[in-house]
Amino acid sequence: MRDDLKRVQEIVTSIDGDVEDWLGAVIPPVFENTIYRYPNYETVKQAAEGSIFRYGYSKNGNPTTAALEKKLAELEKGEEAKCFSSGTAAIYTVLLSVLEQGSHVITVKNVYGRVSDFLSNAFKKFGVETTFVSGQTIEEFEEAIQPNTKLIYLESPTSWHFELQPVRAITELAKQHQIIVVMDNTWATPVFQNPLDFGVDVVIHSASKYLGGHSDLVAGAVIGSREWISALPQLGAVLSPYESAKLLRGIRTLALRMEKHEKNALQIAAFLKQESKVSEVSYPGLTDFRQYELAKKQMSGSSGLMSFQLNADESGIRAFIDSLRHISIGGSWGGFESIIYAAAMSGSEEEVLARGFSYSQIRLSVGLEEAQTLLQDLHEALRRI
Ligand SMILES: *Cc1c(COP(=O)(O)O)cnc(C)c1O
Repeated sequence: MRDDLKRVQEIVTSIDGDVEDWLGAVIPPVFENTIYRYPNYETVKQAAEGSIFRYGYSKNGNPTTAALEKKLAELEKGEEAKCFSSGTAAIYTVLLSVLEQGSHVITVKNVYGRVSDFLSNAFKKFGVETTFVSGQTIEEFEEAIQPNTKLIYLESPTSWHFELQPVRAITELAKQHQIIVVMDNTWATPVFQNPLDFGVDVVIHSASKYLGGHSDLVAGAVIGSREWISALPQLGAVLSPYESAKLLRGIRTLALRMEKHEKNALQIAAFLKQESKVSEVSYPGLTDFRQYELAKKQMSGSSGLMSFQLNADESGIRAFIDSLRHISIGGSWGGFESIIYAAAMSGSEEEVLARGFSYSQIRLSVGLEEAQTLLQDLHEALRRI
């Protein structure tokens, strides 16, 4: 096994807790209780003072979720992690934690849609200003910094256009100006990239993608120092213990799945590259990817999500999508199943272009199926255009 996979494999297959925990159960049970009771007055008193630790109310701490958080912290090489009911809830909580009236934020143009939405609407109402940069060079960040810049919010790579940011240079610049750097690491997963190694302060994940990996849950996570995580505001958007247990099960196979996602995606990207009906395959794992050198420097591998352009009008795009037999049509990504989405399905040509996509752009999340099945499916659908 490769070193990056081996590191993750050791973490995800380690037993949570010692043999005395959970009555010896191999996995943490689902603690579905709301409340914890105490043996006496003195115990409550000591817990309140912080001289002993006791669970009290499930919204503030749950042992099933805590076992998951411990694993996620280890995976991202952070001191602590906190789970949320979605990646979006994790994002909102982090923004609320860092920003104040009059703050300035720098982020990337093709950042996850909710981030730009929160910054341009909810936070703008309170006087927060945002500068959007394409983010591929350090100069853009240097130019965008203002005296009131509090936060640089990164997502490397972005999940439709696959633009990478030079993370190490950005965190060095940010330190000189006492700016906090947050990074969404959903695409690469902790298997292929660990942003804390580059000096990023806090990492965000949508666990609804690869961490869960089985298309059966929605969850989010934030990883960083103990100080950072304990200062996060409590919005009540906690992860249910059932979802925590499912997510913990999902990540047991994270290294194995990511190895297969990468292997399949490399084959499919190479196949699409040489198809005449396809152009501009964006996949950071391809050696001729426009930012391949940076990708290789920052990531030890590539996950399964890519995009490309179809050389076709809307009826051709429709024929291609509807001819697929194995690959599902749908919006999200990171699951065991291959799933595809055409930007043209999301609205009129004008609307699609206004959102920054090209009309013929297709996004493909390569799943865990046999590569040959997927190649055949794509080959046949391309012939129907
Ligand atoms: C899906 C996604 C999110 C949001 O996560 P949810 O769990 O759907 O709320 C955040 N960042 C990226 C890159 C995503 O793809």
